[in-house]
Amino acid sequence: MKCRRCGKRAVIDIKAHHTAFCRDCFILYVHRQVRRAIAEYRMFSREDKILVCVSGGKDSLALWDILLSLGYECHGLHLDLGIDGYSERSRMKAVEFAQKRGCTLRVISMEEMGIPVPKLAKKSRRPECSVCGTVKRHFFNKAALEGGYKVVATGHNLDDEAARLLGNILHWQWEYLAKQRPVLPPVSDLLVRKVEPLCRLSERESAAYAILTGIDYILEECPMSKGATSIRYKHALNILEDSMPGAKMSFYTGFIKNLPRLSRAWEDLHGAIGEDSGGSFSRCSECGSASFTDPCNFCRLTIESGLRPR
Ligand code: AMP
Ligand code: ZN
Repeated sequence: MKCRRCGKRAVIDIKAHHTAFCRDCFILYVHRQVRRAIAEYRMFSREDKILVCVSGGKDSLALWDILLSLGYECHGLHLDLGIDGYSERSRMKAVEFAQKRGCTLRVISMEEMGIPVPKLAKKSRRPECSVCGTVKRHFFNKAALEGGYKVVATGHNLDDEAARLLGNILHWQWEYLAKQRPVLPPVSDLLVRKVEPLCRLSERESAAYAILTGIDYILEECPMSKGATSIRYKHALNILEDSMPGAKMSFYTGFIKNLPRLSRAWEDLHGAIGEDSGGSFSRCSECGSASFTDPCNFCRLTIESGLRPR
C-alpha cells in the first residue's frame, strides 16, 4: 500500500476517503481536516485565546497538539475528577504533555474541593456519568470565564458525535438534537463558545495521530463508563462503517447541514440562541453561573449530596 500523496510506503488506510497515507502525509491530512472543521463551522479565529480541555486521553491531547501546530494560542485545562487511581494516571499524562511542550495547564482537583465525582454520585444517588457531565460542564465554563478565554475546545471526535446523534435519534430527544452541533455559540457573558475541532476525524484517526506523533496518553477507559450506552452506539456504527465506508461521516455532517431546520425546535423550547441572545438563561443565585434553572444543575447536585465545594 502506497501513500496517495507522495508514493512512499503508507502506514494507514482511510477507507471513508478511499485513500492511504505515509506518516508525514497523514499528519498533514489530520491538520487539514481540523483546519477545515474550524473554517467550515467558524469555530474561532487567530485572535481568540482557546482553553483546551484535556483529559489525558488520545483525543484531547491530539487536539492540543494539533492546535499548537496550527499556531493557535491555547492553554490546557484538566479536571482531576477524584476517581481512585484512574484520575491520578490521567492527570499525569496531561501534566507531562504540558511540561514537554512548555505550555500552560490549569488543573482543578475535585478531591481538593471536597467533591470527588464517585462520592458526589453516591451521595446524590445519581448515575456517575451524569454527575461527571454536570461537573465537567460547570468547570469548563467557569475556568474559561475566570481565565478570559473566548472559546472552550473539547476532543469529541466523529465517532463520539455520530454515536451521540444515533442515541438522540433513537430516543427522539429533540432538545438534545437541537443542541448537538460542533459549535455552541456564546450566550451573553455567561457561557463561552464551545467547539469540537476533531468532529471530522474518526476515533481511529485520532488514535493513529497520537501514536504517530509520539503523544503519551492514557489507554485505559474510565472505570465508571463500563456498560455506557454510547459504547453500544459506537459498536453499531462501526458495523455499518465496515460495509459502508463513510457512513459515519455522512450521517453526522448530513445532520449538521440540516440543523437550520432543527433550530426551530430549539427556539420553540428556549428562545433563539445566538451570539447576542441570552435566551431564557439567567444567573444561578448560588454560584452565579449561567443556567435555565435556579439553582443551576451543579449547585442542585452539590446541595442534594450535602457536599458543597470548598
Ligand atoms: P468524554 O466526555 O470523557 O468522552 O470526553 C470528551 C472530551 O471532554 C474530551 O475529549 C476532553 O476534551 C474533555 N474532557 C473529558 N474529561 C476531562 C477532564 N477530566 N478534564 C478536562 N477535560 C476533559
Ligand atoms: Zn450554581
